[in-house]
Amino acid sequence: MNQIKVFAPATVANVSCGYDAMGFALETLGDEMIFTKTDTKAVVISKIEGADLPFETDKNVAGVVAKLMLKESNANFGLNIQIFKNFKPGSGLGSSAASASGTAFAVNQLLGNMYSNLELTKFAMQGEIAACGSAIADNVAAAIYGGFILVRSYEPLDIVSIPTPTNLVATILHPQIEIKTEDARKVVPKQIAINTAVAQWANVGGLISGLHSNDFDLIGRSLVDLVAEPNRKQLIPLFDDVKNATLTAGALGAGISGSGPSIFALSKNLETAKKVEAAMNTQYKNSGVAYSTYVSHISKTGTRIL
Ligand code: ADP
Repeated sequence: MNQIKVFAPATVANVSCGYDAMGFALETLGDEMIFTKTDTKAVVISKIEGADLPFETDKNVAGVVAKLMLKESNANFGLNIQIFKNFKPGSGLGSSAASASGTAFAVNQLLGNMYSNLELTKFAMQGEIAACGSAIADNVAAAIYGGFILVRSYEPLDIVSIPTPTNLVATILHPQIEIKTEDARKVVPKQIAINTAVAQWANVGGLISGLHSNDFDLIGRSLVDLVAEPNRKQLIPLFDDVKNATLTAGALGAGISGSGPSIFALSKNLETAKKVEAAMNTQYKNSGVAYSTYVSHISKTGTRIL
């Protein structure tokens, strides 16, 4: 194989109660990337469409991950990378994670599939260091494994795949404002009360049980975040209005995607997810804030060959 084209999905990290520990991948929203083997042993990013991103291979996560994998595997080829971005960096939908995991997946295919999903997640996490300074796993693991994932532990890295109910659909509102990850982190409390912690981990248990048993009501009851959302929501215009409108429209639950500004909602079928999208539009159309909305099933396969 000399060339491969892949789809690298957008991902929703945190998933309300699963702050810093859970994530899921979207089926239809994501980037496309083309990787072509070259015989120079160098990694070159020749095209980036859809976003203003660095072409330097030590600044672009795709370059970082590709170079690392070629070095670790002692590959006898180089790579030409083309990146087609379909959603914006800084949206809270894992833009850098999509490129990092798309690269890890594609390079592994070109190497003849020598690495496991866990190893690919570790490579992609090195890309996240280049993007945001820390080796965060929730977005990249969701993009590589597909479906819902739990980062059960970092030392050692332990990723758990959670089954995804077939009909579950996500609706996303992306307000085009900038929230610095640093600011989003700063507002999350360093310490929480024990009763808050108990409620949070009880909801994580409820969410995971609901996903296993297709219990949509339990999923909805468990989509509660007492740790990040109460403080982070102030950074997102009209957050409470949007959340309430999605629930009235029939969503199971809603919350902040990653560190924001995107808001996600989950619904038990496509019809409801579209009503939820209409409710988001009603809230935002006169807000003066530019925005996009998306409706997508949860991706069961994550990053895939096109
Ligand atoms: P979000 O998860 O909110 O979409 P990210 O965590 O993906 O945001 O952060 C985007 C940051 O990563 C930007 O500063 C961007 O310059 C950097 N970055 C480097 N390479 C890439 C890439 N290939 N795709 C997207 N962002 C990249």
